[in-house]
Amino acid sequence: MEVAKTIVSVRGLVKAARSKGKRIGFVPTMGALHIGHISLIKAAVEKCDFVIVSIFVNPVQFGTGEDFEKYPRPLEADLGICKKAGVDVVFTPVRELMYPSQNLTWVNVEKLTEQLCGRFRPGHFRGVTTICAKLFNIVAPDIAFFGWKDAQQAIVIKRMVADLNMPLEIVICPTVRRPDGLAVSSRNKYLTAEQKKDAALVYKSLQKCREMVDVGITDSRTIITEMRKILSRASSIEIEYISIVDAEMLQEVEYIAGRILIAVAVRIGSTRLIDNILVDLSKQ
Ligand code: AMP
Repeated sequence: MEVAKTIVSVRGLVKAARSKGKRIGFVPTMGALHIGHISLIKAAVEKCDFVIVSIFVNPVQFGTGEDFEKYPRPLEADLGICKKAGVDVVFTPVRELMYPSQNLTWVNVEKLTEQLCGRFRPGHFRGVTTICAKLFNIVAPDIAFFGWKDAQQAIVIKRMVADLNMPLEIVICPTVRRPDGLAVSSRNKYLTAEQKKDAALVYKSLQKCREMVDVGITDSRTIITEMRKILSRASSIEIEYISIVDAEMLQEVEYIAGRILIAVAVRIGSTRLIDNILVDLSKQ
């Protein structure tokens, strides 16, 4: 496994692999790798012949007062995980390499980024799409892998790639969860054992939603009320939003029909957690 610190070296390694006819897979991450990231790497290893993981805590997707400074950066452990998972190249640029001067060029996906998390994290998705566009230009992968855990991000990236005719495929992999249902996240490291227990209620509330839909309850207001009840069992949980939206344009819907995303964002102490499920009634 190679560790590439420069754009020139990544491009050289990809060029050599491509000249041998290899299919290039790419997994962009912010590091602090866990089994969620590993599932993306495994999917990449399965579908591709040459796999690149980037580790870069992207400053421009963090707002003021967010956790950019304290975001975990266990680089040595991350490199060990990548090696074990069969990664060919880990790209670990420093900030000055990705943003050598004040950034004047941004990629912005409209509308989709104004919903859900976009309402609470202004500028976040502009930072995500811009870094992904830059990384796609540097790595030039055939396929990039993202997690459904960050559903809005995955939908926004897919749209950017389609709208800008970027020559790659986006594969979205399922959310990896702990046995208690809590979606695995680098930010879970901030939680105490007690807070983790409370955090498991987030998925419980999403399961409740699925149960209600399964017995024919499709009214969003009724479902959200029940989900709120479950989340209110823990006084540590502060709900940022519970939204029921169509999975294409992310517009709120009154009734569940077709492909619907049910998304939740909460704060537990100073930690912000998100989770979601997709309900697909289009095939029924
Ligand atoms: P991050 O390092 O948080 O930027 O995440 C890098 C990629 O891993 C993103 O595509 C995330 O959606 C994905 N990811 C993070 N957590 C999970 C999880 N629990 N299951 C599946 N994918 C995940």
